[in-house]
Amino acid sequence: MAERADSRITPLFRAQYQAAVGSKVPAPVRISTVDGELWVRAVPMPGAGVMNSVLSTIHLGDQGITVVDPGWAGGKAKDAVGNVLRPLDAFLRERGRRLEEITDVVVTHAHPDHIGAAAEMLQATGARYHLGAVEQRTVDAVRTGRSQDDYAVERHMIGAPDGVLDKFPFPLAEKGLPPFIPRQRPDATIEDGNLLPDHGITGELGWRAVLTPGHTPGHLCFADDRRKLLISADHVLPEIFPGIGLGVASLGGNPVKDYLAALDRLAEFDDYTVIPGHGYCFTGLGARRQETRDHVMERADEVSQVLDWNPEISVWRLAGRLTWSGGWESLANSPMVWSAIRQTMMYRDLVLEEA
Ligand SMILES: [Zn+2]
Repeated sequence: MAERADSRITPLFRAQYQAAVGSKVPAPVRISTVDGELWVRAVPMPGAGVMNSVLSTIHLGDQGITVVDPGWAGGKAKDAVGNVLRPLDAFLRERGRRLEEITDVVVTHAHPDHIGAAAEMLQATGARYHLGAVEQRTVDAVRTGRSQDDYAVERHMIGAPDGVLDKFPFPLAEKGLPPFIPRQRPDATIEDGNLLPDHGITGELGWRAVLTPGHTPGHLCFADDRRKLLISADHVLPEIFPGIGLGVASLGGNPVKDYLAALDRLAEFDDYTVIPGHGYCFTGLGARRQETRDHVMERADEVSQVLDWNPEISVWRLAGRLTWSGGWESLANSPMVWSAIRQTMMYRDLVLEEA
């Protein structure tokens, strides 16, 4: 049977695709001219492949400019000027606009590559700051040191040989707000289903927030029903699969389970064009959701097979029997070991719940 056009991933712009898969930073693309111009602009960041930049969405409206995900600030906050503000100002001036016209800065999730330049952008423009209500709860949790983490790793529970983990501090044990989070509170926190404000990115219908937890607890996608566009940020990506359970703080629950449910939730947008957080714009969301789900379930199957063989196996030995890119040996001897242990625990719970 012939494949339907939307049953596979198709890049929207050839040049953007070729740059992204060729490890180059793609040039900006204009994705819509309905009710103002909508641009997708890559902001460089230190990473390999499609992770060498983050995609920022910019709406040039009559009454203001909205930026969704300002981008990676650079190593230090002051680098935001060189990495984001100056190039963005040049981009806007080429289109007869100015940085000072930015009225709204919207953030999909509190990761440095997306929110990093927000503080400097807000300061430079006086724009309103919008963050998801749930994501703001994680920010508050980390600020007060009251993260509620079902996967807080207790060394004695893992079954690692003595001393093996002592080299590396447990990352979430660090208290205090990471430097990439703006110190100011959002002017508006966005709830699931909220529309972004009128003066900014919206037309008649507006952009609708879709709560998609998993990558972080309060991750938001934004659906534009009029233009049939979905900003998927880091929930669904072309070329790579998003990490899961990577919030600045945890709010409890199993992020893998949340992630799968949120993948299903996006089914209503399968015929929309997707603006992801990294890579390139594409159609074929349904196909990509399926590939992403398959990837998660492959991991769950792997965990399930080990647990069938030995239901009592320690988390440490379970992790050692899973496939890790780069291999378990090197992972077990790096600070990333905590993330691997957490992932293993989440998948183990998913498998045990489904059994
Ligand atoms: Zn990202």
